Amino acid sequence: MATIYYDADANLELIQSKRIAIIGYGSQGHAHALNLRDSGCDVVVGLPIESKSRNRAQAEGLRVMTPADATQQADVIMILLPDQIHREVFERDIRPGLAAGKTILTAHGFSVHFAQIVAPEDVDVAMVAPKSPGHMVRRLYTEGAGVPALWAVHQDATGQAQQLALAYARGIGSTRAGVLRTTFAEETETDLFGEQAVICGGVSALIKTGFETLVEAGYQPEIAYFECLHEMKLIVDLMYQGGMNYMRYSISDTAEFGDYVSGPRVVDQHAREEMRAILREIQDGTFATRWILENQAGRPSFLAQRRKNATHQIEQVGQELRSMMSWLHPVKQKAGEAEEN
Ligand code: NDP
Ligand code: MG
Ligand code: MG
Repeated sequence: MATIYYDADANLELIQSKRIAIIGYGSQGHAHALNLRDSGCDVVVGLPIESKSRNRAQAEGLRVMTPADATQQADVIMILLPDQIHREVFERDIRPGLAAGKTILTAHGFSVHFAQIVAPEDVDVAMVAPKSPGHMVRRLYTEGAGVPALWAVHQDATGQAQQLALAYARGIGSTRAGVLRTTFAEETETDLFGEQAVICGGVSALIKTGFETLVEAGYQPEIAYFECLHEMKLIVDLMYQGGMNYMRYSISDTAEFGDYVSGPRVVDQHAREEMRAILREIQDGTFATRWILENQAGRPSFLAQRRKNATHQIEQVGQELRSMMSWLHPVKQKAGEAEEN
């Protein structure tokens, strides 16, 4: 069983005694910077001069510098940039500002585990990875709560890396909820597997294929949307709150019987073997290499897939239906941007 650490296991004064550079001010960046500041820490934000995020950080009263200057001045450097640019920013802006005893942190293991960031030996490298999007990291903190996080140490040059990671987790509010010890390998591999096979790839392919099967058979797309996509949330909410048992308690006996007889036909032995293959390709670096090369090539395949998926019939039908359900606060999403209705 995993060990879980709480406020009492973390020394807030340790992180309050350091200067922290938060590199990036997006989903995670804004939440970490603001929570740490409100926890009494000395925070600077590192962003390029041309960054669109600068105004937002400054409007919050945060000090903003270039990533290179922020690193130079800081003891602890948390890299909260999209994973695919970690290598470039680390080599250009962060490495020159490192010195013995400083700490590099990330909120996901990908770049360290797959050797995109290789820090000097006299620097600590650790991870504090909140298990939620940044807006929730911030909102729960302001409500006096926190989101659970995972933490790990990759390199402990000072002998203090564990204490520091825990103190940082306390600064962002996560030890209020509990933080689990993991390793970079475990966090990276399970995170990639979960998003590919289950929560992002698996679920969206399941919804899309179910929708297409009904529409192909002549049923109305609007009905197919409700049955395969809209209701998904209601079911997932029940699982989230009370596990599969609570979900099955809440659905009809007919639905429960159908769950047992048909679920394993859809996610069958073939699907299980594919899941194992996907996991192997994550573990042996095949997926990481593919994603890194895809980025170096300017993302041709990624962008083509994004375009194709963005215009799928389920998106068009869904947008119309959601515009009639104002209570769910529909969002119109064009590829790459979001705008509230
Ligand atoms: P975002 O995409 O929200 O980060 C965007 C920030 O990075 C912005 O400040 C942006 O500036 C800046 N940025 C983008 N490109 C560059 C560049 N070339 N040079 C310098 N700055 C740049 O990232 P996330 O918060 O989603 O992710 C950050 C880290 O947290 C990742 O490691 C991720 O895996 C991890 N994580 C993310 C979670 C999430 O739910 N989002 C959950 C847990 C971990 P600008 O405004 O100028 O574009
Ligand atoms: Mg992920
Ligand atoms: Mg139904």
